[in-house]
Amino acid sequence: MAADAGLLLGAGVLGLCLGSFLNVCIFRLPHELSLVRPPSTCPRCNRPIAWRDNIPVVSWLLLRGRCRHCREPISAQYPIVEAAVGAVWVAAALAYGLTAHALAAALFGTILLGIAITDAGHYLIPDEYTWGGLVLGLALSLTAGVDGLLRAVLGAAVGFGLLLAVARVGQWVFKEEAMGGGDIKMMAMVGSFVEWKGVLLTLFLGALLGSIVFVPLSLKKRRLVPFGVFLSVGAALTFVMGDAIISWYLHFLRGG
Ligand SMILES: [Zn+2]
Repeated sequence: MAADAGLLLGAGVLGLCLGSFLNVCIFRLPHELSLVRPPSTCPRCNRPIAWRDNIPVVSWLLLRGRCRHCREPISAQYPIVEAAVGAVWVAAALAYGLTAHALAAALFGTILLGIAITDAGHYLIPDEYTWGGLVLGLALSLTAGVDGLLRAVLGAAVGFGLLLAVARVGQWVFKEEAMGGGDIKMMAMVGSFVEWKGVLLTLFLGALLGSIVFVPLSLKKRRLVPFGVFLSVGAALTFVMGDAIISWYLHFLRGG
């Protein structure tokens, strides 16, 4: 189905608004603060932010990245996250048209972005993304009927079980926590969107990216690995081109 201009505009506006909400999640969830109360205030002067100063991307640009009252700088992370989520929703509409698959792509991309940023900054993955995302993934799978739901449940179970097994073995071998509970719950959520083969591909891609990026860094200094960042990238790649990669691989195995 071809995406028309109205659909792209709608997807973009919705994405920008959800990006604004994702900023609230990124800022508040790691500190276990409520998402709805109190309304947004400037982190420096605590003055409430009026609706006209809270328009995604536009307000930040008009105010040149400063609070209207105290003129203190406001992080560029806010408009960047808003623009990124807007881009994810436009890309999903462009690629898949007005379909349930497009909605799944856009929501999955938004959740993965939230997980990646939060894990990179705080080394944790809040339950709102994982359990909340799992509920969304299972609900959206119903658009493909009972078969779709069963595939999503199997994917979630494989993601959860596999990561739990890896975590237990890691703990037994290294005598320390190798993988957080957040990663385990995250892969249950991922499995509900990409099914069981996608779980395997996500883990493979995540481990590959993690090794390429992190091994050189951690040779210099021992540090924590925010594995959720690499799993997020792996899961996004899997959603977009997993079928192509898996069929190429099976073809390759058969010597074709
Ligand atoms: Zn201020």
